[in-house]
Amino acid sequence: MKQGIHPKYVEATVTCACGNTFKTGSTKENLKVEICSECHPFFTGRQKFAERGGRVEKFKKKYNMD
Ligand SMILES: [Zn+2]
Repeated sequence: MKQGIHPKYVEATVTCACGNTFKTGSTKENLKVEICSECHPFFTGRQKFAERGGRVEKFKKKYNMD
């Protein structure tokens, strides 16, 4: 008999790099991801664009490019 053909399916706790945790189904009990729905660019893109814009404004002010 071969072992491990059908790994046990468990409820996994996924920990994201942003600190968010959520549950999902997996063959591993603990998973780590670098991105999730809480910090994915698709959901936070607007905020990040605003930050980038702020940096550009600072840059422009510093070098009197306005
Ligand atoms: Zn995240």
